[in-house]
Amino acid sequence: MQFATNGIITRVYDVGASDKMLNIITEDHGRIGVMVKGGRSPSSKLRSVSQLYTYGNFEISQKGNLYWLRSGSVINSFYDLSFDIERISLASYLCDIANELTDEGVEDDRIMRLLLNSLYLIGKGQKDRRIIKAVFELRAAAISGYCPELAYCAYCREPFADYTYLDIMGGKLICTDCLSRRGDRKAPVSREFEYIPEASILRGLSPSALAAMRYVISAADGKVFSFELKDDSETEELASACESYILNHLERSFDSLDFYKQILKT
Ligand SMILES: [Zn+2]
Repeated sequence: MQFATNGIITRVYDVGASDKMLNIITEDHGRIGVMVKGGRSPSSKLRSVSQLYTYGNFEISQKGNLYWLRSGSVINSFYDLSFDIERISLASYLCDIANELTDEGVEDDRIMRLLLNSLYLIGKGQKDRRIIKAVFELRAAAISGYCPELAYCAYCREPFADYTYLDIMGGKLICTDCLSRRGDRKAPVSREFEYIPEASILRGLSPSALAAMRYVISAADGKVFSFELKDDSETEELASACESYILNHLERSFDSLDFYKQILKT
């Protein structure tokens, strides 16, 4: 059987002496592993369409659950990701999450679209990368059925507390008042505070950071990045909460994320 689909290449690795294998997150076949026969040869006609981060239209042969690339055309190579190592390492981390959250045969293309929009924004280099990363992490979690309950404090039902904490494992909010009532310790006042009652992980959220998270889970697909946070500490709160949330729900870490953080430090 043969079919054509749009998709983005999220991983490339060598197979044998001359072939390579692509992970492609497609519009209508989920994430599939596609073999490129002779793909490592400099003279391969599939060379340009089988590069990492290429968004293209792919002609694929299928036999059972084996796939081969026959031909393809590039729609967007995301060449501008390669302008600096920070861009490329963030792109690599987002692709790792996208690979984790997609599977063969799943027709939902929302993760693919979210990834495309994120890579486009990273490449343009104008939007704060902490926000691109946070939006991707939270929205991808929500699409995959791990959406946190952000409407109100889970204990007193107050929707607009002065300061709130996201209970990462429980996926719910707890306001400062309820936290001090529940705990035998004084409620934390610092935004960087990490407080662990009953083995839970809490991330502090100012009203603006919480409003941003609410926006990210409810906005229309094309609008999900269309917000700003004025204050640097609000951006840090959003970034910290979204990263903790996705990593805890996937129950794993990523080498690509560790690498990205190392790059940011240097
Ligand atoms: Zn409360």
